[in-house]
Amino acid sequence: MRFDCDKCKNGKITRYMHIDNGFCYKCNGTGKLSYDPTPKGAVIREEWSDRERMEIKEEQEMIEKAERENWMFANNIEEYY
Ligand SMILES: [Zn+2]
Repeated sequence: MRFDCDKCKNGKITRYMHIDNGFCYKCNGTGKLSYDPTPKGAVIREEWSDRERMEIKEEQEMIEKAERENWMFANNIEEYY
C-alpha cells in the first residue's frame, strides 16, 4: 500500500520551498509513504473555540520551528547569522 505523504505535495513541502526547493525527506521526495500517516480515529473538527484555535496556532508554530530544526539537522545545515 502507498499513502500520500502528510508532509508534502508530490515530494515538495510548500512552506520549505526556500530551503532546498522544499525537498521532503519523510517520503524522499516521492510524495508517497509506505504507511498510513494519519492517526487512527482522527476526526477533523469543523468548529474550534477561540481558545483552542490559539493553542493550536501556538502548537503549530512550535511544530514548524521544530520541523525546520529537524530538517536542518537531517541535512546538516547550520543556521548562519
Ligand atoms: Zn513527503
